[in-house]
Amino acid sequence: MKKHINEIINVSNEIYNKGLVSGKAGNISKRIKGSTGDIVAITPTLKSLSYLKEEDIVLVDMDGNLLTRGKPSSELNMHLEIYKKRSDVNAIVHTHSTYATGFAFSSKKLKRLEGFGEIKNPYLNSIEYFKPGTSELAKNASEGIKNEDVLILKNHGVICVSDKLKEAKLLSIFVEESAKTQFVTCMLNSVED
Ligand SMILES: [Zn+2]
Repeated sequence: MKKHINEIINVSNEIYNKGLVSGKAGNISKRIKGSTGDIVAITPTLKSLSYLKEEDIVLVDMDGNLLTRGKPSSELNMHLEIYKKRSDVNAIVHTHSTYATGFAFSSKKLKRLEGFGEIKNPYLNSIEYFKPGTSELAKNASEGIKNEDVLILKNHGVICVSDKLKEAKLLSIFVEESAKTQFVTCMLNSVED
């Protein structure tokens, strides 16, 4: 378990240092599959991802029962619902990264640029606004990400999922870079030669 916890701490530091989360925003989890049931390790509520310690990471079972001390992220239900709907997903990274979230607050959709795999939909999937921490957000986010690895939460942020935490992290970096590219393109197109 220690190596999973350390991986979460390292990824938390990395995405904080890259500016994908700020203050006390954002949350990360990992599912550890076991013969007696899965365990989810998740970042805590009301703590910055920049200075987490081993004892800050909270362990819960798939019903959200606490297995350790501490208070899990307020988005725990969203993480659990996603794991329940996606047996292939073992890691979730939720950020409020500036450019991607800027699109989420605007009427502009984020294009699915090259690198997101097969283009089934020209835009990244998004869902309407639901209050953070609510069961409505958990239900709709897990539904919205059923067939995708990225989901834009309107007026809120981004969720990236993968089998591995490293991959979910890379995806969240890639989403932000894609949003930057699209933003720069929009700006350049609006300037006369
Ligand atoms: Zn959030």
